[in-house]
Amino acid sequence: MQKIVVLGATGSIGTNTLDVIARNPDLYQAYALVAHQNVDKMLELCLQHRPGIAHMVNPEAASLLQQRLPNELNVEVTTGADVLLELVKHDSVDTVMAAIVGAAGLLPTFEAVKAGKRVLLANKEALVMSGRLFIEAARETGAKILPVDSEHNAIFQCMPERIQTHIGHCDLAAEGISHILLTGSGGPFLSREINSFDAITPEQACNHPNWSMGRKISVDSATMMNKGLEYIEAKWLFNARNEQLKVVIHPQSVIHSMVQYRDGSVIAQMGKPDMRTPIAHCMSYPQRISSGVEPLDFFKVGQLSFCEPDFERYPCLGLAIEACHQGQEASTILNAANEVAVEAFLNSRIKFTDIARVNQGCLSAVVNSKLDSIEDIVALDKEARSRANAELQKLI
Ligand code: NAD
Ligand code: MG
Repeated sequence: MQKIVVLGATGSIGTNTLDVIARNPDLYQAYALVAHQNVDKMLELCLQHRPGIAHMVNPEAASLLQQRLPNELNVEVTTGADVLLELVKHDSVDTVMAAIVGAAGLLPTFEAVKAGKRVLLANKEALVMSGRLFIEAARETGAKILPVDSEHNAIFQCMPERIQTHIGHCDLAAEGISHILLTGSGGPFLSREINSFDAITPEQACNHPNWSMGRKISVDSATMMNKGLEYIEAKWLFNARNEQLKVVIHPQSVIHSMVQYRDGSVIAQMGKPDMRTPIAHCMSYPQRISSGVEPLDFFKVGQLSFCEPDFERYPCLGLAIEACHQGQEASTILNAANEVAVEAFLNSRIKFTDIARVNQGCLSAVVNSKLDSIEDIVALDKEARSRANAELQKLI
């Protein structure tokens, strides 16, 4: 029986994870659920999944949950940042699903890695922010990192075992791999007139054609910053050099990414755009379990198409690739700036096209800071956020 802590339990990945756990009750148990402040959703999840612990980051939300939970359920309600860090490294915990959105997920995810847990990584921002430190910590403690992000999960599945068992410090060329082909749908604005992008509303940006996701990642998909963050994520997970990574637009989201080998072979992973497939894969690897996802029907799919990304349409993608090439400091700054900009856009404070402006403005602040510890990363993230807020002021 694998005991799982679900970080970000009330979110899109969190609820999909709980769905897969519920389908396989003899194999998995929700040991603890962790969320920010959505009491209604947490209450519903506790009634349905009966975890041992429900942790709310917001203390008021924790007391409200405590009042509303029926006693006979025997769920312990906790709150507090230190309590959360203790929770993820508890001896009873086998697996941590890292599905908090954004930089807020960094510390608990990193703690799980330091404790040598099996870490199912959805929170790409944590890896983008801390890259080498994250991979080094996993190597030291033997923490097993399994990529939940559908593209990285696909790439993982298309790789030989020697890469799968050496995440972060594998050698692609030695395994005959020439390229990782990171696919992306292009989001909701693949064919919208670029000169109308100023008028894009948060609702339009969150309306992804193929995937149903949280609001932050939906906006990232619309700007393709998501693919940019994934490019950085792929660099760290697969120890890839710049020239080994390529982004391919594939609007149908049937192929979730591909690996190109030296001999001309290309291996692709395909399936319905449903996150329960990569979640179930990570939970059960190297076995397979049922996930509730319908089989892919190729007669319904009909056609698969591909094109090159247009950096004028997706300036954030270009910025992220550039930041990846520049190194850790640029990646950490970009991630922070983007979080601030996306939130401002979702609150209708800036235009869709301003997101790239804020990101670009912050990236010019790279000064080669020392980044030897998680504390250094957290400090840089904070500094980049205040710079992003200053950039925002210029636009409001
Ligand atoms: P979401 O917005 O649906 O859920 C976010 C979760 O994080 C919620 O449970 C929320 O309570 C929690 N959270 C937010 N702020 C927090 C804080 N300060 N402290 C603790 N918890 C906090 O997001 P999502 O779509 O489920 O995405 C979660 C992560 O998974 C993101 O990093 C995203 O990039 C990644 N991801 C998501 C998908 C997807 O299909 N949704 C696919 C690939 C990767
Ligand atoms: Mg993805």
